[in-house]
Amino acid sequence: MTDVVIVGAGQAGFQVAASLREQGHPGRVVLVGDEPGVPYQRPPLSKAYLSGALPGERLALRPQAFYDKHGIELVCGRAVGIDRDRRRVALADERELEYGHLVLATGTRNRELPVPGAKLDGVLGLRTREDADALRERIGGARNVVVIGGGFIGLEFAAAAAKLGLSVTVLEASDRLMRRAVSPAVSAHYRELHERQGTRVLSDASVVALHGGHEVTGVELADGSVLPADLVVVGIGVVPNAELAADAGLAVDNGIVVDEHLSTSDPRISAVGDCAVYPSRHAGAPLRLESVQNAVDHARCLAARLTGAAEPYASVPWFWSNQFDARLQIAGISAGHDEAVVHGDPSAGSFSVFCFRAGQLVCVESVNRTPDHMAARKLFTAGGSLGRELLTPGFDFRQHVA
Ligand code: FAD
Repeated sequence: MTDVVIVGAGQAGFQVAASLREQGHPGRVVLVGDEPGVPYQRPPLSKAYLSGALPGERLALRPQAFYDKHGIELVCGRAVGIDRDRRRVALADERELEYGHLVLATGTRNRELPVPGAKLDGVLGLRTREDADALRERIGGARNVVVIGGGFIGLEFAAAAAKLGLSVTVLEASDRLMRRAVSPAVSAHYRELHERQGTRVLSDASVVALHGGHEVTGVELADGSVLPADLVVVGIGVVPNAELAADAGLAVDNGIVVDEHLSTSDPRISAVGDCAVYPSRHAGAPLRLESVQNAVDHARCLAARLTGAAEPYASVPWFWSNQFDARLQIAGISAGHDEAVVHGDPSAGSFSVFCFRAGQLVCVESVNRTPDHMAARKLFTAGGSLGRELLTPGFDFRQHVA
């Protein structure tokens, strides 16, 4: 009977604990987290919670009663060291937890903006409930909002701010929005969408300094221009929380390196969720994903292994983002695609982009076309793909998959 200690009480850590109990794990399950309260979901922080549409109590993944009922011990504390020989995790307050198996589900933290003024009052990030509460407090009194980073979180925040009638500028360092994750067609569509709502979008924009005394007053760009700002939201990506693993001598390379069973090089330590780099069948390369799907499916796969039903991790990556009335859903991984075909009507706000790599379908990005998204997930889950030649005008993707 193995006692499992899970470090990181976010989406993945919670799911490992819940799935272990679902699978009948008889040993202790200890979930260690350094944020206050019960584990909660992050996606609403930049959507319904930010806008006030979702009350705080609905953020929790489960109420305290769930943990009590299932014998999941919630420990509030920060893990600061792993003693692999003695199989113990040290917490910052000097407590020690002994493990039979250790799960690292430490997630990521926001990348810091490396320019002068980045610590001024009114410059905020968005990762935790605490961040979202600080933003909610500020947003009411703000007039000029500058969002640094045109990725999912920055854009979801920008949409929420624009809906409140604020003047919003989005600064993106690269040539297009959400560059890391979507095709050019989707980037272009979202740029138009934000601009139609009155948001100014500047691409190839390099921030060199933030101005202000105590509070931020402006954002200076490389061309010398200064944008007025009384609220700056920084969303320039994340850094995996991998120091604990690195200090314990485990392999780290843009995240905690695991094998197809999500095990580190120490068979008694696994890593899951945003912090883990795993060999992806879908990308054909090591991959670290930041998504709820990845966190949940990693966790389920690991819990199955720890309860005797080991299978290599093979889930299809999928993701969603809500901005204004556009629901973007992505199935597969578009990185490295060499051809994209648009089906549907972007001008009507409903279309899908079929992305191909070496002639095979690797990703479907759908905007307000959930049936395409679901069909793509079904196709990829069954191990199928689709040749470029099948996507002739009139080809019915959903029918083909059904
Ligand atoms: P996390 O949820 O980050 O949890 C890790 C936890 O570990 C944190 O609580 C951290 O404080 C804790 N921790 C770290 N180190 C230690 C330590 N040493 N000791 C103790 N505790 C520690 N994904 C989607 O698929 N769709 C979306 O629409 C979407 N929207 C998002 C919106 C926002 C604002 C954010 C921030 C994320 C969003 N995501 C979305 C991403 C998704 O929330 C993450 O992929 C998911 O939370 C990852 O789960 P995780 O458990 O790996 O990491």
